[in-house]
Amino acid sequence: MPLPVIDLPIAGIEPESTEDPLDLLDEIDRLKVEKDATILAHYYVDGDIQDCADFTGDSLKLARDATKVTTSTIVFAGVHFMGESAKILNPQKRVLMPDLLAGCSLADSCPPDKLAAFQHKLRAEGHDIATVAYINTSAAVKSLCDWIVTSGNAREIIDRVPKDKEILFVPDQHLGRYLEEVTGRKMILWPGSCMVHEVFSLQDLIRAKKNNPESVVIAHPECPQNILAVADVIGGTEKMRRHVMATTTPTTFLVATEANMIHPLRAAAPQHTYIPVPGIMTSTGETCACNRCPHMARNTLAKVRNCLRDGKPEIVWQPFFEKARDVLVKSLLE
Ligand code: SF4
Repeated sequence: MPLPVIDLPIAGIEPESTEDPLDLLDEIDRLKVEKDATILAHYYVDGDIQDCADFTGDSLKLARDATKVTTSTIVFAGVHFMGESAKILNPQKRVLMPDLLAGCSLADSCPPDKLAAFQHKLRAEGHDIATVAYINTSAAVKSLCDWIVTSGNAREIIDRVPKDKEILFVPDQHLGRYLEEVTGRKMILWPGSCMVHEVFSLQDLIRAKKNNPESVVIAHPECPQNILAVADVIGGTEKMRRHVMATTTPTTFLVATEANMIHPLRAAAPQHTYIPVPGIMTSTGETCACNRCPHMARNTLAKVRNCLRDGKPEIVWQPFFEKARDVLVKSLLE
């Protein structure tokens, strides 16, 4: 008999408060009005938080949405670099985050001092480089770069980099390798990766496919090459959403990205079945929580309420935000 599916806590994350989620949602709605605030939530945070947000989306969409906010306060339920981008694009607004410790293993894999030293070394060796950074980088790293890309606009931005420049792509080696393939541009790749996408095992995916022979595999380009090689559709979270909406025949999708992505996919196209990879392995009945991002999981309904109520923690303007702003604006908004 299969074992029951249990919602296991994620290592290092304190359990969600015992307050009634419906009470919390009511309080959040009331505080939004009282504090003149708008909530932005990434597709990887818990579904409850996405449901009470005014805007949901991937990094690119949310950065653009942040510029349309009319209230004086933005609450960003996501990870630190996303809150920074919202502040950089809206210096006059107060940007709060439910948990400032919500970081990103991918952003952490490229510290600004190491990047500056590597750029210096490459230039000293005679390389004429343009540095292209995935948006999952700190603002300090963005301030050292020429272009910022997301999985949604990467191809278009790479095409804008003059052909006579060598591209240094940071920090995601898997996305960089995928972009080399689709754009035909050779790049110098920073050896970073995301802890969530890195753990997908080909074995899990093949087993899930064997158990669901008619299924379609959709994978995020942050996944390693061996996963992308067996994917039917490769794309960022917005592309995934558009793809399932455009598919009218009920289909089983094996989803290789953060497991909370299934929430917006199901809301956009409820006619399909979505199976997280890795997820419930029907052969054993076991579950695996390693496709949950522990940083995104720091966002809880109680912390959203707390930061609205207390007006903190806040992303505070830093001197290097100015340079990062120029790069973000030309890359994402122009
Ligand atoms: S899923 Fe990966 S890339 Fe996204 S926030 Fe978490 S650690 Fe960073």
